[in-house]
Amino acid sequence: MKIEIQRAEKLNTIGELAASIAHEVRNPLTVVKGFLQLMERDQTLNSKQYIPLVLSELGRAESIISDYLNFAKPEFRKMEKFNAADFLHDLALLLNPLALKNGVVIEEIYKKSVLLYTDKSQLKQALVNMVKNAIEATDQGGKVSIILEGSNAEAFITIKDTGKGMSEEQLERIGTLFYTTKDKGTGLGTVVSLRIIESMNGTVQYDSKKGKGTVVTVTLPAEESQVEQDQVTKELVHN
Ligand code: ADP
Ligand code: MG
Repeated sequence: MKIEIQRAEKLNTIGELAASIAHEVRNPLTVVKGFLQLMERDQTLNSKQYIPLVLSELGRAESIISDYLNFAKPEFRKMEKFNAADFLHDLALLLNPLALKNGVVIEEIYKKSVLLYTDKSQLKQALVNMVKNAIEATDQGGKVSIILEGSNAEAFITIKDTGKGMSEEQLERIGTLFYTTKDKGTGLGTVVSLRIIESMNGTVQYDSKKGKGTVVTVTLPAEESQVEQDQVTKELVHN
C-alpha cells in the first residue's frame, strides 16, 4: 500500500501539541523523582542498579524535547547549494555505526548528479530520522538502500529497507504524533521529518508491505548539475 502523507490532516494545533509534549516529558521525570525519593528514604538501597533506568528515562525526556524544539520552529537559518550525492554519502557514513550494530548493510546508489538548495542541517535531521527507522525495522542480515534519482528540477531520495514493513493500519498512522511501536520510541521522528520536508516544498511518500519492507520517497526541488555523474553504487560494510 502506498500513501502520501499530508501533514495538515495529521497535525494537532500547537496548543494541543504543547500539552501532549508536557505530558510525555512528565512521565520520565516522575520516574527519576521516584527513584531519588527512594534513595533518600532507604540508605541501604543498592542504588547503582537503578542508574541505567534513570539515565534511559532522562535520555527519553531529552530526545522528546530536542525533537519538539525542532518541530516547533523549523527555521531555515543557513541556505546553501550542495551536491545531493555527497550529502547522502555523509549521511550514510553517519548512520553506518548504527547499521553495523544492527547487522544491517547500507547500500548507496546515486544515479543523477543533482544540486539541492536548502538548509543542510534541517535536511539531515529529516533524513536521519527516516534512515534510523529503516535500520531499526530491519533484522540482522538485511539491507537499507539510499537511492538518488532526479528529473525535471526534482530530486528523488529513496530510503528502502528489507525490514518488517507495515500493515495498512500502521501505515495510516505514520506521521501521527507519538505513534510508536517501539519500547523506547518517541513517535516524534516521522512527524518532525514530514514537517521539515514540507517546509522545503517537498513531499514524502510511504510504500510498505508487512513482512517485506518499506520504501520512503522524498521529493525535493532541485537543480540538475552540469557535471555528468557515473552511476555510483557502493555497499558500506565498514566505517
Ligand atoms: P519512533 O521511531 O520513535 O517509534 P517515528 O515517528 O520515527 O517514532 O516512527 C513511528 C513508527 O512508525 C515506528 O515506531 C514504526 O512502527 C513505524 N515506522 C517508521 N518507519 C518505518 C520503517 N521503515 N519500517 C517499519 N516501520 C516503520
Ligand atoms: Mg524514529
